[in-house]
Amino acid sequence: MFFANNIYRERVHIDNADAGQDYFCPACKGKMIQKRGNVNAHHFAHHAGRDCDPWYAGKLSAWHSKMQSYFKPEAREVIIWNQQHTEYHIADAVLEFNNQKYVFEFQHSPISQETFLKRSDYYVQCGYRIIWVFDFCNPQRPKTIFIADDDDETIKHLVWTGRNRTRFIDNINFSKYNNRLRIIFHIQTGVGKQTQIDMEDYYPWSKWEYINPTHKDYCFARLCLEEFTSTSDFWAQYYSEEEFYNRLRHLNYAKDSTSG
Ligand SMILES: [Zn+2]
Repeated sequence: MFFANNIYRERVHIDNADAGQDYFCPACKGKMIQKRGNVNAHHFAHHAGRDCDPWYAGKLSAWHSKMQSYFKPEAREVIIWNQQHTEYHIADAVLEFNNQKYVFEFQHSPISQETFLKRSDYYVQCGYRIIWVFDFCNPQRPKTIFIADDDDETIKHLVWTGRNRTRFIDNINFSKYNNRLRIIFHIQTGVGKQTQIDMEDYYPWSKWEYINPTHKDYCFARLCLEEFTSTSDFWAQYYSEEEFYNRLRHLNYAKDSTSG
């Protein structure tokens, strides 16, 4: 975790923590260890084997830290109890806008369909809408998504050939969430083109051409879930990185925005 409470119960970010002081988990009240290594972003850790929220364990990548940084401090790492007050989880970020509370889940590592559904259902049952943001930029093994270089439309047609990490999304019945769930990919795109082939005595069919596979453009794409069937071929609302971060900043500091 990036925040913990000091002995005065004040919330302190790891970057402002004093190495000689004690800090405690705001959820389970356990004493935390300050970690300042080179592999993960600096963070507070529970003692070995004592992570109080297994869903939150391992959320320590540089990407994770960067995404959280676009949120005001009080909106990050928010503890969310269920209605019976028998279970809690630590949401990456929580914002309220248009009289609706949103949980943001930032997912850097691979995830199973079962885990995805369990977490989604938990936050929806707790009265939140959930916005998943997946990191598919992984620089070691880039899996480029190809984007139709058609026009200025913000809704883009995307095609993904190497998509093992996204297969868990395919074949989920999103209609049951009734717009309470959104999925956003942080991706790198190449440029492609769909061509319609019309041959005599044959049904028309379309062929995908990879125009520029080496072109790399990092962006965010919000999946259009209404007509979604598969991550190999789908439509998404396109945001440049700058547009997306500006949007987050706007949502954080808009007048009616308060943390949950
Ligand atoms: Zn804890």
